[in-house]
Formats: sequence, structure tokens, C-alpha cells
Amino acid sequence: MPSLADTTAEILLRHPHEAGRPLSDSPLAALIREEWRAAGAEAAASHHRVRASAGRGRAWAQVPWLAWFDELITTSAQRGFYVVLLLSPERATATLSLAIGSEAVTRAFGEARGRAVLRRRAADVRDRLPDHAARFDAGPIDLGGTSTLPRGYEASHCFGRTYALPDLSDAALHADLHALLAAYADLIARGGLLPPELVADPRAALAERVESAPHVRRMAFTAHGHACAACGLDGRLAYAGTADPVTEVHLLTPTARPGTEDVAILCPTCHAAIHAQDDPADMAALRRRLRFVVGTPG
Ligand SMILES: [Zn+2]
Ligand SMILES: [Zn+2]
Repeated sequence: MPSLADTTAEILLRHPHEAGRPLSDSPLAALIREEWRAAGAEAAASHHRVRASAGRGRAWAQVPWLAWFDELITTSAQRGFYVVLLLSPERATATLSLAIGSEAVTRAFGEARGRAVLRRRAADVRDRLPDHAARFDAGPIDLGGTSTLPRGYEASHCFGRTYALPDLSDAALHADLHALLAAYADLIARGGLLPPELVADPRAALAERVESAPHVRRMAFTAHGHACAACGLDGRLAYAGTADPVTEVHLLTPTARPGTEDVAILCPTCHAAIHAQDDPADMAALRRRLRFVVGTPG
């Protein structure tokens, strides 16, 4: 397995020389997308999606990055929030950052106002995670570069650590990465970026997020099919021509990482009914309350 510190240092050293050449067949771009990503994936948990970017299309990124996405929140650096290692070849630094996806915010608010919004949200994250923020540096970061993206990354930095090239070591990087991924998990459990006055019950909010996450839905439908586990209605059979299954995923166990036994498939009506129960995990109680029969089609 490639070393995260060694690969990071190599990219910082080679980027100024190779970024003038075409991105498409650059060995450095391949190093970023393959070795660097693999080194990052080694430090990740199974629910993290790890991505590395050398640039987009034909253009080199001024700030190459390696990101850890929790699939409950995002699978793209443009939106949501995530942990990222940002390289500034110009400053010869690597910055580990708990960050907010800047592009979605910049698109919605414009550049100047978007950066102000990002800085405000980053401050909110520090307030929500004071215990974690205290372990790290919460001051502004300087990534160099001239383009819009580095300015967005700087504004969206909540807290983290900047390493100068000579100080890069696997021990420090892995310890900080581990702690920052724990902060990421706590931010999700505490309501993410939603203001606390909108999150009456963080556990219910998390359950809603888990039930609608694409990877959880895939897992649940693959394991249990598309019929409602209470009344038997199969949305795909009952409504001809409906491409998207009308049935929904219900979380039986309060966990952010459900297995097949932690989820059930319910039609929207039964789903609403079970959430209204005192115990939203009591499938037997829901079945006892059923007063209608669905015929089999055909
Ligand atoms: Zn549910
Ligand atoms: Zn049902």
C-alpha cells in the first residue's frame, strides 16, 4: 500500500513541473487518482467513499484534493460536507480540513456572498463541534492559487490541520485523519448543517436521512424486494408503468449503518402509520391494525 505522507509529498514536489503539461496522459494525474486515492482509502471505513481529483476535463486543479465522503451526506465535493486533504503546491502545504462543499453554495448565492455564507456555516460547524474543534486549528487557511475554487475551499474550512511539506508524516496524518473522521460522524449525528432550532429530534432526523440514502435503499430493496412488509402492496406491480418503486425503506434499528435486518420495506401509507406508533419498530403491532386487503393483480 502506498504511504499517504510520501504520496502527498511527491505530488506537492512534482505538481509545479507537471501541471504545465496535458492532464489527460500525465503520470502525476495517474498517481493522484490511483496511488493517492488508494492511500486515502486505506484509512477509511467501509461507509466512506474516497475520491481524488487532479483536475477536471483538460484543466489541472490548482489545489488537488483527496476527499472522504460519508454516503449519508454526499458523494461529491461540490455539495454537502466531508473531510478533505487539500494540496497547495504554491505554498508547499497540505491541509486536512472538515469542509463544506463550496460549489453548490457559490452557485446558489454568487461568489462573494457565497463565500460569506460558507464562512458563516463553517463557524456554525465549529459551534456544533466545540469538543472536536479544540483539538484542531480553526483559523483561516491560505491555499494560494488565483482561481475561484481555492477561495471557496478556504471559506468552507471548518477546522483541521496544515502541514508544511517537511513535516508530513504518516503517524501525524493518520492520527489527525482518524480524529477528523470522528468529528465528521459526530456532525452527522448532531444534525449536520441544519440549525438546531430546526432539528427537534436529531435521532429522528438521522433516521430520515438513513431511510432516504440511495445506498441504503439499494441494499434494502435488494434484500427484501419491493412489496410492503405489512400489507403486501408492491408499488411496481400495483401501479403499471411506475419506474421508481413506490414502496419506501423503514429503519427498524436506530443506526446510521443499517444491515439487512435493520430495515423493512413499507408502502407510504403503512410507513406513515408505523411512524405514528409509540414504537416505530413494532411491525407486529402495525400488522394487527391493518383493516384492508390488497388483491393480487392479473
Ligand atoms: Zn421509517
Ligand atoms: Zn403497506
